Amino acid sequence: MLGRRHFLLSVSAAALAAGCGKPSRENLSCMDLTGVSTDDVIARNAVTYMDRSRDKTKTCESCVQFVAPKTDGTCGSCKVLKGPVHPDGGCTAYAKKT
Ligand code: SF4
Repeated sequence: MLGRRHFLLSVSAAALAAGCGKPSRENLSCMDLTGVSTDDVIARNAVTYMDRSRDKTKTCESCVQFVAPKTDGTCGSCKVLKGPVHPDGGCTAYAKKT
């Protein structure tokens, strides 16, 4: 049993050292549209949503339509688009928070 326990502790330590336990915003993808209807995917594409805004001064995080995620490193949502939204994302429907 000591061997198995030692193995599990070693795997856990390696995972923590590799940063597996911490969500990473840089590696976050919000492009999984599982469960989003075809019409909503079309609407999303119509405003050219992307996970990384072309204009760094106009990201979802600074948009009035953005709903921030409850946990840092996870996807947020949008009041006008269905599906997950990246804080660094953007689309042509951007409207700056006031
Ligand atoms: S409207 Fe566009 S820019 Fe604004 S939060 Fe939604 S997806 Fe992001």
